[in-house]
Amino acid sequence: MAKYTEAKCRLCRREGCKLFLKGERCFTDKCSYQRRPYAPGQHGRARKKISDYAVQLREKQKTKRAYGVLEDQFRGYFENADMAKGVTGANLLAALERRLDNVVYKLGFANSRDQARQMVRHGIFTLNGKKVDIPSLQVKVGDVIEVPEKNRKIPVIAQFGEGAAKRGVPVWLESDPAAFKGSVKALPQRDDIQIPINEQLIVELYSK
Ligand code: SF4
Repeated sequence: MAKYTEAKCRLCRREGCKLFLKGERCFTDKCSYQRRPYAPGQHGRARKKISDYAVQLREKQKTKRAYGVLEDQFRGYFENADMAKGVTGANLLAALERRLDNVVYKLGFANSRDQARQMVRHGIFTLNGKKVDIPSLQVKVGDVIEVPEKNRKIPVIAQFGEGAAKRGVPVWLESDPAAFKGSVKALPQRDDIQIPINEQLIVELYSK
């Protein structure tokens, strides 16, 4: 996967909101966006007139960056969301939210989506009892994500529960830190998704 070489905090500053890309640091007063809530660069504080297209583009970039998805993948999510029944924007966000790496993060197993993605790739978890290493896998209702006994001593896993306690677990998931597992109780609804995203702008961008 291609890597963003730009520092992660610059992405938050560019998008004008906290994307929670750096784990613990995002919840402290060391957060760069809290200290400098304006775009990076020499003209970061300048007031600019922004076109409708630029607003839509920024919304797409923000969403893509928050979930750590690259352009082609993101376009694929949009096309599937557009073909599925229901509201395209809500379908798009639900599909991003149902990614296994996002679920691992939301359950509190990892401090960031990036870290969750790496952990999944390393095969640290099982899904319904079988080893899994695909971060983009879509979870379903009733799925159980678990850390097998042999992986429970990995430092970040040993702290499982702290992340969930600090950030809270969304209502569509259930976390059981004592048993090193979590499950999917329901599919995520639009109101369950807390990132400040106006998905309609993304739909408008791709519908041009
Ligand atoms: Fe974004 Fe986290 Fe950096 Fe704050 S600390 S700017 S939320 S990545």
